[in-house]
Amino acid sequence: MPELPEVQITVDGINKYLPGRKILSVWTDYKSGYFKGKKNIKDPAYFKKFRKFVAGKKIKRSERKGKNIIVHFSGGGGILIHMKMTGHLLYGRYEKINPKLQISNYEQIQNSKAQKTEDAWLPTEEGPLRDPFNRHIRLVFELSDGKRLALSDMRRFAKVMYFETSKLSECFDGKNIAQDPFEINKKEFIESLRRKKTGRIKNILMDQTLVSGIGNIYSDETLFETGVHPETNIGDIPDKKLGEIYEGAKKILKKGIKFGGDSASDYRNIKGEPGAFQKKHKVYRRTGEKCPKKGCSGKIVRKVVGGRSAHFCNRHQKLKR
Ligand SMILES: [Zn+2]
Repeated sequence: MPELPEVQITVDGINKYLPGRKILSVWTDYKSGYFKGKKNIKDPAYFKKFRKFVAGKKIKRSERKGKNIIVHFSGGGGILIHMKMTGHLLYGRYEKINPKLQISNYEQIQNSKAQKTEDAWLPTEEGPLRDPFNRHIRLVFELSDGKRLALSDMRRFAKVMYFETSKLSECFDGKNIAQDPFEINKKEFIESLRRKKTGRIKNILMDQTLVSGIGNIYSDETLFETGVHPETNIGDIPDKKLGEIYEGAKKILKKGIKFGGDSASDYRNIKGEPGAFQKKHKVYRRTGEKCPKKGCSGKIVRKVVGGRSAHFCNRHQKLKR
């Protein structure tokens, strides 16, 4: 799932290419009975309102709130996108094709297996947009520059909705999205985490209502960096160590941004290109490998912690009991 660095890179991409572009029309094939009556474009009735709301709007700028992408329109209002598991936005030239007629062409271009229900849209230029991870197009905005802003989302978990500027907070399901490590200082970070009196540090770091932006990958890498066992109870971690976790998280998140985000899974930037942070992992999905910390003879193990897989060194990330 995209975390702070990947969302930030997408937001930076939007801000680089899209301000001043007008939305002419919008298309989707998201549709799910589960979302009936909900504020989500997967409900066809809501999508009708969404389409009406965005048509003719000019994109002003984008910002990140936790792992949410907010796109503001000139004159107020905007759209919110949460990429969830496999979503990512793409910007380029596309044409709508008839999947039944054109799929063989796409096959030849991609040289990969076809999924007959997909591929309603085809990038008209060679290049990274034709990466197989970018072919699951579910949502397409037609823009005034002749290009499109598309959302590829293989697992279909992404959340997309529109908002009036004064009601933006209603987009977060009533939950308060906390500030991220770059928005708060060390003291505020420690106070935020301490709002939970008990709980394992891995899960607390990933709780978007305490501190936002950190998910599975960056929590594993941060805890490795700071030598903290992911199951350590928050109550057993002194302030000094939480301060190190704060510094460690910022360092790892910055590194993620520097390397263009993490594409161990589906993530691509808006030009369709993968990031390279997955090549820099010290522990995430490195189960069985020797610990890369200098002088440590441990090895990387994997354990499910609060429903999420944690990867850590079995030697220097000690659990105090
Ligand atoms: Zn180690």
